[in-house]
Amino acid sequence: MSIQGKVALVTGSTSGIGLGIAQSLARRGAHMMLNGFGNPQAALAAVQAVAAVGVQVRHHGADMSQPDQIGDLLASTEGALGPVDILVNNAGIQHVAPIEDFPVDRWEAVIAINLSSAFHTTRWVLPGMRRRNWGRIINIASAHGLVASANKSAYVAAKHGLVGMTKSVALETATTGITVNAICPGWVLTPLVQKQVDARAAAERISQDDAKKALLAEKQPSLQFTTPEQLGELAVFLCSEAACNLRGAAINVDGGWVAQ
Ligand code: NAD
Repeated sequence: MSIQGKVALVTGSTSGIGLGIAQSLARRGAHMMLNGFGNPQAALAAVQAVAAVGVQVRHHGADMSQPDQIGDLLASTEGALGPVDILVNNAGIQHVAPIEDFPVDRWEAVIAINLSSAFHTTRWVLPGMRRRNWGRIINIASAHGLVASANKSAYVAAKHGLVGMTKSVALETATTGITVNAICPGWVLTPLVQKQVDARAAAERISQDDAKKALLAEKQPSLQFTTPEQLGELAVFLCSEAACNLRGAAINVDGGWVAQ
């Protein structure tokens, strides 16, 4: 079964990994609801530019930390495009600080956006997926869903939580045509990571290039960034029939990060 004509929602898809995944799915013919802040018009144009003929592409600006706005996003998606067949929970933020200095509002925001939003979207779309006996839920976790780093307590907690939730929901749907899996990227050079490159370059008074090399050398043995396009193609595979018995997996695409 191809994904042509399926309806996909990718949260946090106005930039980075989410945008790459939205492009890959739309290229294969999935109608697309984008979500996220920043420049929605540029994201719409970027997805429309690669979408298969006849694919509809929309954007909804729901703040994924707000359950009522998430409800509106899902209702609007269904109203505009039809019931969601492919849900990619990708919206995420980072905050780096030792736990004693971690601002309470940043902790709450990281947990709400990176973890709780996936609970709200999943419980909303599952009944329809069950009725149609087909669905794909792809949670964008992280290498930090499998191992930790210092000063990222909220992010690591949220991503470990997301991997755990992925396994639970995969078990709850194990005898159905719905699969639930997590993708765990290592470093991908998106705006989220660029901020960490900038912070490192400033703190260590080194060039951008040297800051990128240092970041990679610390964690990612391949010494190469994974790209949003590579993750988009993995999402396409997870939506394929070949992946119909891949359930509850946390697939690390991390240049060897968690193999160490
Ligand atoms: P990014 O900053 O480029 O994109 C994040 C997206 O989420 C943007 O579209 C942004 O507008 C949206 N967003 C942020 N807060 C939101 C909110 N409250 N409501 C709705 N949308 C919101 O970051 P990215 O690197 O592409 O990250 C995407 C996902 O991948 C995140 O969950 C992140 O944790 C995960 N991830 C990233 C990396 C990496 O190296 N970049 C590695 C592992 C996992």
